[in-house]
Amino acid sequence: METRETDVAIIGAGSAGLNARREVLRLGGKPLLIESGPYGTTCARVGCMPSKLLIAAADVAHEVSRAGVFGLEIANGHHVNGRSVMERVRRERDRFVSFVVESTEAIPSEQRLRGHARFLGPTTLQVDDHTIVESSTVIVAAGSHPFVPPPFDLIREHVMVNDDVFELEDLPASVAVIGTGIIALELGQALHRLGVRVAFFNPFDELGPFTDPEVTKVVKAVLSAELRINLGATVINADVVADGIRVRWADADGEEHEDVFARILAAAGRRPNLAGLDLDKTNLPLNERGLPPLNPQTAQAGDSPIFFAGDIDGHLPLLHEAADDGRIAGSNAMLYPNVVAHVRRVPLAVAFTDPQMAMLGVRYTDLPEGGFAVGQVSFEDQGRARVMGRNQGIARIYADKSCCRLIGAEVFGPSAEHIAHLLAWSVQQGLTVQTALSMPFYHPVVEEGVRTALRDLAGNLQILDGCPAEDLVETPGM
Ligand SMILES: Cc1cc2nc3c(=O)[nH]c(=O)nc-3n(C[C@H](O)[C@H](O)[C@H](O)COP(=O)(O)OP(=O)(O)OC[C@H]3O[C@@H](n4cnc5c(N)ncnc54)[C@H](O)[C@@H]3O)c2cc1C
Repeated sequence: METRETDVAIIGAGSAGLNARREVLRLGGKPLLIESGPYGTTCARVGCMPSKLLIAAADVAHEVSRAGVFGLEIANGHHVNGRSVMERVRRERDRFVSFVVESTEAIPSEQRLRGHARFLGPTTLQVDDHTIVESSTVIVAAGSHPFVPPPFDLIREHVMVNDDVFELEDLPASVAVIGTGIIALELGQALHRLGVRVAFFNPFDELGPFTDPEVTKVVKAVLSAELRINLGATVINADVVADGIRVRWADADGEEHEDVFARILAAAGRRPNLAGLDLDKTNLPLNERGLPPLNPQTAQAGDSPIFFAGDIDGHLPLLHEAADDGRIAGSNAMLYPNVVAHVRRVPLAVAFTDPQMAMLGVRYTDLPEGGFAVGQVSFEDQGRARVMGRNQGIARIYADKSCCRLIGAEVFGPSAEHIAHLLAWSVQQGLTVQTALSMPFYHPVVEEGVRTALRDLAGNLQILDGCPAEDLVETPGM
């Protein structure tokens, strides 16, 4: 067995690991990047990019199918060529992946290692059965994998996860989507809009990522008008039959049903890739999920020379967060033991459903009791949204009652990806409701809906137009 010495050993060549490596290099260190799977990252290969490519096709199909709304007639309807759709998804996906693979393979061979890494001690790793790595510090950026819940785990080889969807040569006739979170809704709605018969199943009464019950109420009304969503549905069994998989379930009232689906897509959450890492050899205390105490501002595990970055740390499993984690971990791995706490960006998450979903800043569920005010807008009568025939959804914006600063929002509606950026940037800049209202708003744009919500918020904060909040808002006890 070969032994290699390095400054920072990085487990995982995903987005977090690659960013960590860059940071180590920038600070003059010697990184060693260890990868057990194919190069290319989850984001480019089976995550963000191919899912958005599938959604892009679904969006066009949906636009064509609703042409009648605008008085347009599409001669002979339209036909979705599943093979062509999937061929474009793969072709464009492969292009994105090729850039990542090329740049990863361009890393000098003495800074790369192929194989599965596991801990032998806090800073000693074994990679497959060929190399022992002795490192000053270690960054664990091993990512996550899809969870396949029971009873589907019993027929695992017949169940698709996100990775498999993009490898389909053609669109299946029908898919049972297990889960109703972001990935389930993004992929399931896209398949539905491409003509696949889709049904969603969730044993809980949960739909989408929102924590604000007013937003969730609208999500349920809008999405269940389009999609077959079974909430509170307990799957009793799933059997492989000649033409697919027969699913038997009890609905929320206990009534039993069955249906046969060509494919099953498990999108019921993801789990950190902890198996086979042997974290118990690190002497770190591990919680019930198998993770040590982690500080998102330093990426450090306890006060050890081990750092965690990306989806594995269970903190906001999103691409830009994985990249930030990687940079923080890379920097602190070099500075260890004198680690530095970094200020994190305002949280921002977007789901590319239609209408889109976005959450930013403080979630409704985490708002300080009695310390916040809410302003909202319904997109049903919002001018531009109506013009486009996309007048569905709601935005709820939250402000700190004591200083009138914007602190968060949950948005379900047209252009939510853009609205969420405006609001997230406003929150991070510490804008008050009045300052946000003093910004220009063009007409007619969906952002005018944001102004409606901000005005509602100002009213609820009892702010008079143009006056500084500090002068006008009563802050009991201050
Ligand atoms: C379907 C889907 C859609 C998504 N859409 C979006 C989106 O629109 N926007 C967004 O921001 N995020 C999105 N995400 C999330 C985003 O893809 C992830 O947050 C991001 O890719 C995580 O990067 P990472 O570096 O933590 O993990 P990865 O890129 O998965 O890298 C981890 C690497 O570690 C390797 N590894 C694991 N264990 C070991 C070991 N023991 N030894 C050696 N190597 C190991 C793995 O093989 C893997 O290559 C999506 C995810 C999915 C699944």
